Amino acid sequence: MTNAPTTLTCLLRGARRRCPACGAGKIFDGYLKRAERCPACGESFEGLDADDGPAWLTIGLVAHIVIPLLIFLEMHAALLWWQEGLIVMAMTIISALALLPVSKGIFIAALWLMKKGRI
Ligand SMILES: [Zn+2]
Repeated sequence: MTNAPTTLTCLLRGARRRCPACGAGKIFDGYLKRAERCPACGESFEGLDADDGPAWLTIGLVAHIVIPLLIFLEMHAALLWWQEGLIVMAMTIISALALLPVSKGIFIAALWLMKKGRI
């Protein structure tokens, strides 16, 4: 275990959607479907089901992006209500789609660490 990656390294690998064990193989077979095992090192991801955790984390992160944006637009931009709505809706959708795989990768890495008894 002397060359084992640190907990932070494993979580960052998960955030990059990479295998927490080796950092080379992809965790997902597509946008969000978890792979059965790492294509690079063969580490099994079986049973590492994040369930609703990534969605909750994504909602919290997106809120911290969109709500300040909405407040900024209300205070400093002279936009019509529908223009603000379009900007906020677009930012919500884009940030949610971008952050959901990152959140799920972090959760899968955390579950892998728990499975290995590291956290
Ligand atoms: Zn791997």
